[in-house]
Amino acid sequence: SKKLAASVLDGLRAVRTALREAESELGAIDAVAGDGDHGRGMVRGIDAAVAAAEAAWRAGAGAGDVLAAAGDEWAARAGGTSGVLWGAGLRAAGEAIGTQAGTIDARAAVDAFAGRITALGGAQPGDKTLVDALVPFQQRLRTGTWAQAARAAEEAARATAGLVPRKGRARPLAERSVGTPDPGAVSLALVARTVSEHLEE
Ligand code: ADP
Ligand code: MG
Ligand code: MG
Repeated sequence: SKKLAASVLDGLRAVRTALREAESELGAIDAVAGDGDHGRGMVRGIDAAVAAAEAAWRAGAGAGDVLAAAGDEWAARAGGTSGVLWGAGLRAAGEAIGTQAGTIDARAAVDAFAGRITALGGAQPGDKTLVDALVPFQQRLRTGTWAQAARAAEEAARATAGLVPRKGRARPLAERSVGTPDPGAVSLALVARTVSEHLEE
């Protein structure tokens, strides 16, 4: 419905605000063992995603199509590993929402998001990637509220500081990363919390 599509668009705008605020911090975390571009990449991705979502919404698209369009532009514009994964994940979530009327099945959307990201990236929990925040989030959401799931993601993201990276650009400097959380896990938890606050409004 038009109302659900507007809510998805507003949620994306809230995420844009949060990621813009976190840009330099995410870049600094990524610079410890990666290439320092994670904040920039996430902001480029969400900026493009919001623009695409606005265009789709104006054209009369429903919630699922708005989110899928946002994902496509995120993947096309963000650059970096996280951009490809976030874009594909959002498209999958949008496809799962599809043309549902009434309310969005958030669990089905999150399952689709997580399924696409793990299929594409091949990371397992413990590899020190965003999957380390995503899987606890997804599992907590099965029985808990979105707010509880977001808290689980934040705790899990903090706990990645103790891990040695086994995937992505941080791998060659793996030991240097110990003591710092994974940037992708931190940004995923931030998005989860922002969406949780948006849903409470
Ligand atoms: P890049 O590493 O290409 O510069 P970013 O800095 O934007 O891209 O994103 C880095 C983040 O991407 C990492 O912190 C990690 O969370 C995530 N990542 C890297 N490889 C994978 C993967 N195979 N599966 C899931 N997430 C990954
Ligand atoms: Mg990077
Ligand atoms: Mg990079």
